Amino acid sequence: MSAQLQDQFGRVATDLRVSLTDRCNLRCQYCMPAEGLDWLPTEETLTDDEVLRLLRIAVEQLGVRQVRFTGGEPLLRRGLVGLVAATAALRPRPTIALTSNGLGLARTAQSLAQAGLDRVNVSLDTVRSDTFEQITRRDRLADVMSGLAAAHNAGLRPVKVNAVLLRGVNDDQAAELLGWCLERGYQLRFIEQMPLDAQHGWSRAAMVTAEEIFACLEPHFTLTPVERSRGSAPAEEFTVDGGPETVGVIASVTRPFCGDCDRVRLTADGQVRNCLFAREESDLRTALRHGATDEELAARWRIAMWGKRPGHGIDDPSFLQPVRPMSSIGG
Ligand code: SAM
Ligand code: SF4
Repeated sequence: MSAQLQDQFGRVATDLRVSLTDRCNLRCQYCMPAEGLDWLPTEETLTDDEVLRLLRIAVEQLGVRQVRFTGGEPLLRRGLVGLVAATAALRPRPTIALTSNGLGLARTAQSLAQAGLDRVNVSLDTVRSDTFEQITRRDRLADVMSGLAAAHNAGLRPVKVNAVLLRGVNDDQAAELLGWCLERGYQLRFIEQMPLDAQHGWSRAAMVTAEEIFACLEPHFTLTPVERSRGSAPAEEFTVDGGPETVGVIASVTRPFCGDCDRVRLTADGQVRNCLFAREESDLRTALRHGATDEELAARWRIAMWGKRPGHGIDDPSFLQPVRPMSSIGG
């Protein structure tokens, strides 16, 4: 086994996604139920020091080169700015990114950028407030928009916007959302809805496919594939109306990119997940709290990655959705 986070199929994970909390101030339909989801107990959540220790091991011993903080909603984590600053002090310095719903970003974008945050992805599925409330079950569109503007002004460019289309809800608004993002210099990427919602409401028939997303955009924009191999980047990129602006489509379900995956995930309660759809986890928190050395933790982490499956298997008749929902895994 190599010193890096390698699996049996030759993939090497260099992109670590760290969920800082499973809590959230929105309730997006495709992610969380309206109510009734239990939070992780506080004592099971890694402290800032514990997160940093695992990050240091990942960067110094396991070859991690990009760290993305996510959740739940990572801006709800009080120590976030300090975590970003401490991550920026690691060597070799990893690229530091954040995936957020944008609530509170208007207040924190500047200090996050100063602490060393390199990039931000903000989730926004519509620019209409009634549709926003229908999807997220909260009336907060204006706050997300001001968060996006603050991130852009703080130099976290290009600000990326992640959008999920839901049939009969916002699938008629794809072109409108793209136009809005283009006007502001935000880079939009559509993501196919995946079976990761806590209430297990996903169905393949209801999912808006990448093909359908193109069909919505093509009457309004000329999309030209960007000539480069997708590599480990999941988004297929297209220039819009000759460029230089682009739009991305992440066809996780209909065109899986598992063969090129370079990701590994750490949950807020200290479990390593080698895949979004993994049904097994590897418990680093218990080992860490029982006095494991850095080398022992690194060895556990390598073993966890070695067992990564070749693909997510959503199309297999035997596919079972992971027990943990997206909000607790970290998207
Ligand atoms: N709260 C933050 C946010 O919304 O950006 C970070 C966590 S959220 C789980 C990360 C990303 O996962 C978001 O872009 C969200 O749209 C996406 N997501 C959540 N549930 C999804 C699903 N069932 N299928 C596809 N993407 C999903
Ligand atoms: Fe919260 Fe993000 Fe899930 Fe929406 S997608 S409920 S913002 S964690």
